[in-house]
Amino acid sequence: MPLITLPDGSRRELDKNKSCLDLAASISPSLAKSALAASMDDHLVDLSTPITDDCSVRLLTTKDPEALEILRHSTAHLLAQAVKQLYPNVQVTIGPVIENGFYYDFADITFSDEDLAKIEKRMRELVSQKIPVERFTMSRDEAVAYFKSLGEHYKAEIISDIPAEETLSLYRQGDFTDLCRGPHVPNTSFLKSFHLMHVAGAYWRGDSKNAMLQRIYGTAWRNDEELKAYLFMLEEAEKRDHRKIGKALNLFHIQEDGPGMVFWHEKGWTIWQAIEQYVRNTLRKGNYQEIKTPQVLDISLWKKSGHADKYLENMFLTQSENRDYALKPMSCPCHVQVFNQGIKSYRDLPVRYAEFGCCHRNESSGSLHGLLRVRSMVQDDGHIFCTEDQIETEVSQFMQSAFELYHDFGFHDITIKLATRPDKRIGEDALWDQAEHALAEALRKSNIPFEYLPGEGAFYGPKIEMHLKDAIGRSWQCGTVQVDPNLPALLGAEYVAEDNTRKIPVMLHRAVLGSFERFIGMLIEHYAGHLPLWLAPTQIVVISITDKQKAYVEKITAALKSHTIGQSPIRAISDTRNEKMGFKIREHTLQKVPYLIVVGDKELESQTLAVRTQKGEDLGTMTLEAFVDKIQ
Ligand code: ZN
Repeated sequence: MPLITLPDGSRRELDKNKSCLDLAASISPSLAKSALAASMDDHLVDLSTPITDDCSVRLLTTKDPEALEILRHSTAHLLAQAVKQLYPNVQVTIGPVIENGFYYDFADITFSDEDLAKIEKRMRELVSQKIPVERFTMSRDEAVAYFKSLGEHYKAEIISDIPAEETLSLYRQGDFTDLCRGPHVPNTSFLKSFHLMHVAGAYWRGDSKNAMLQRIYGTAWRNDEELKAYLFMLEEAEKRDHRKIGKALNLFHIQEDGPGMVFWHEKGWTIWQAIEQYVRNTLRKGNYQEIKTPQVLDISLWKKSGHADKYLENMFLTQSENRDYALKPMSCPCHVQVFNQGIKSYRDLPVRYAEFGCCHRNESSGSLHGLLRVRSMVQDDGHIFCTEDQIETEVSQFMQSAFELYHDFGFHDITIKLATRPDKRIGEDALWDQAEHALAEALRKSNIPFEYLPGEGAFYGPKIEMHLKDAIGRSWQCGTVQVDPNLPALLGAEYVAEDNTRKIPVMLHRAVLGSFERFIGMLIEHYAGHLPLWLAPTQIVVISITDKQKAYVEKITAALKSHTIGQSPIRAISDTRNEKMGFKIREHTLQKVPYLIVVGDKELESQTLAVRTQKGEDLGTMTLEAFVDKIQ
């Protein structure tokens, strides 16, 4: 009798060839009802899988994170079944799981939006029929013949590519059978929280020489709350699209002449400068030396640094006087050049350089996306040259200042991940051990909870990633600190150690925002354009009701500009246009100006201001001094 170990460590014996479902039933009838698959010795399997040997088994319900992928995959099959029932002449092709859902590609058909509603309705009918989903196997040649007999030539073609000796698993649910590795839910009644999103064209096997197929995208979740939350997030994300808001608020534009390169308009550039000033202050506090390095450098430097080898397809190249140059894709090698000027001793370490470094990366044009994915970006880049013993302290200090920055920008839900050595890497394992240990220790000693991302480190060293959750629950990776035990050696950096020997310093790469472009894009979406007062390009508009208050309005605006918020002069403008007050208020409200000051005869006479917020809240009448005090 196989001995089965359960997640709580307890053990159970079952007769040979009983299934995972039998195991669930032996634990409790309710578990037998809610279980949808199992994890056997850490492999996901169907509930119907027989237990033949000693093993550990974890029964999965919709509460388990692994359930998501199974539900999504099973919902893709459900979609194909519904489509085949409604449109028998369609051919099925493939239906993989993707982020947040799944898709399925169909041949010989064109779908409309009405079709989607009809298909979704049929899917729900199939769910209510609680159709069993059964696994069976075939040899490759049997499977090819089987799908050919059904007229499914695309399926037959996929299967023909599989080695002949392989046994294939197929899943049958009622009148529909698909080739699949599985696992799947035991029956269709488990598939409840899904929605078909849209149709798009897609070439067979992604090749434009092939037939154009119809791809139906769907989303599926573990329960209706998750589905609702996702659909709400999508709706909100569309409203908050930084490209739309950027245009409406006149912040920036991008045009075809410079794909992935941003034209910053005055208001967008004002936001940028407010951020830059903030970051510069934190750098000064952190004892960084701000430097500036060249934009274009001889290719030989990039050869030495390894970039020409590992990163060339992402670099913009240029020539002059028979020399080859590259635009810098990152500033790291340049910072080593600054470090290499003059002899450094252990007493000089750590040396901290920071640069608002403009970098160019030749991202594919298809991947460009507003401010979020660009080809020209400015990083809040920095490099710390230190000894191994200093890594922990430097990393702790960096993390602390990054947390402060994120809080000040309105992000409070921050997740920390530690990405460790990837398969493809340079450097000795001993160095990796030390670097990973130092990063983990720095986090532990600062009481910062973190999760590991095994194998996700950079090729030269491990890294800490900081992920921020925005107002609608999306996660954005921003800050990072990475240990690089390799680049300093490649570029000849060294210092004189206490024992008078020459040693190679460790290099930490660090950034908090990541890039200004992406960070501003993220801020716009997080705040839906309603930036906090200190970041708003125009903070206050002073509005006249008639021409009589014109001079008074100009006086107030000038007075406001002579005061500061934070360290910057208040950004105020006058609106004395000969327009109706309501019109002016509406316009500035749409421009998301935080404070509107309205001045009529009454205010002129009493030398006061009537203040309202962008949200339409009336703050009443007050003196200029009282108002400045309030917003400061
Ligand atoms: Zn770097």
